[in-house]
Amino acid sequence: MTTSTLRAIRRHQTNLRRCTACRDMAGPPVTGNAVASPVLLIGQAPGPKEIEVRRPFAWTAGKTLFGWFEQIGLDESHFRERVYMAAVCRCFPGKKPTGGDRVPNPDEVASCSCWLQAEIRLLKPKLILPVGKLAIAQLMPVDRLNDVVGKIHRLTAYEVTADVVALPHPSGASTWHRTGPGRSLLRKALRMIQNHTAWKAVCNGSYIGRAKTSVNPDR
Ligand code: SF4
Repeated sequence: MTTSTLRAIRRHQTNLRRCTACRDMAGPPVTGNAVASPVLLIGQAPGPKEIEVRRPFAWTAGKTLFGWFEQIGLDESHFRERVYMAAVCRCFPGKKPTGGDRVPNPDEVASCSCWLQAEIRLLKPKLILPVGKLAIAQLMPVDRLNDVVGKIHRLTAYEVTADVVALPHPSGASTWHRTGPGRSLLRKALRMIQNHTAWKAVCNGSYIGRAKTSVNPDR
């Protein structure tokens, strides 16, 4: 990972934050920190709070998600400094008439995928963490979470080969990760992340990125 990668990521994010391609999406597009990381997280789409504060996973689902990562060595602030946070869509899709956030439609997903593809090509991550079915589906077919969570998938996406560890969406609307077998599959997935060399590298700061201070990967 070189400083030119970091410069390219910063340029990429500047362009991304100007995107207005989707008529029914509410921006401005949300990005995480510009960090040249070997670990890439892919969320679904920001909610209204994330748009307001311009940070991914800034509200209740984020609390659950960062709680998972804290168990395996990275608290929220270190995670944000050291892991590149992407998403399937970067703008808020709005609310469903029945309540809850609308899932982006296939045209919106297709429009936004150019940004994710560019990030994968720029970063060449060693470990990708798609969060929730929509994010997982960008990398591999997914029918049931039970079939894909708790495994390491070696995949090639956009000419980059990486290990993929799928996670459930931490939204309060989902009970999958709180009951069996989801709860034990989630624990298994977190252990796989913890033991991955790319995760250990972001925990101890041994990569050229944004942060250098070491935290304990064996927590
Ligand atoms: S969702 Fe993606 S493609 Fe659509 S306007 Fe936002 S950043 Fe652009």
